[in-house]
Amino acid sequence: MIKRTDENPLQTVWLSLGSNLGDRLQNLIRGMGILLTGGLMFEDCSGIYETDPVGFLEQPPFYNLVLKVRTTLPPHEILVLCQQAEKALRRERALRWGPRTLDVDILLIGDRRLSEADLEVPHPRMKERAFVLGPLEDMDPAILKKWGFPPRRAGIDLKIPASDVRILLQQNGWLS
Ligand code: ATP
Ligand code: CA
Ligand code: CA
Repeated sequence: MIKRTDENPLQTVWLSLGSNLGDRLQNLIRGMGILLTGGLMFEDCSGIYETDPVGFLEQPPFYNLVLKVRTTLPPHEILVLCQQAEKALRRERALRWGPRTLDVDILLIGDRRLSEADLEVPHPRMKERAFVLGPLEDMDPAILKKWGFPPRRAGIDLKIPASDVRILLQQNGWLS
């Protein structure tokens, strides 16, 4: 854990996780385990939604959730950690927006706006995506209003409630 300083304040970070290859539930739980042991402190999570693919439509449906954490890690270290989780789940990048065992996107980091070649925050496509906006609205409707994001829920279907996701995290030792 990086010490909390003026340069590294404790910030609230919202992440989107998705999986549509292999054991989707297990991939999401394992992915969260890697994030939560790598410097992100659990705050809250949405339920898991089954969702229609976007971008490239000829692929299996996704399991998606939103994870809210707190961390002192700077933005690029959060990105590296997200990529480590993807790598640990053996994600292969054959096709843009193609099937993947795990995708972890950074949605929001506190009130910050970043526009860098490898990191844009808020995530530039989140305002179009029901699989992000639905879970976010479940967890914190005020945050949609604050950022001016529209509510959107088309094509998403709640499969596993948030309380069950927490139990799965506890059973795997990722949450006390
Ligand atoms: P999308 O970004 O539309 O959801 P994707 O998740 O399939 O598509 P990836 O191949 O996972 O795209 O990521 C491509 C690049 O996006 C990454 O290498 C990363 O540097 C960059 N990137 C920019 N902003 C973000 C962000 N907010 N969260 C995660 N990656 C980001
Ligand atoms: Ca993505
Ligand atoms: Ca991504």
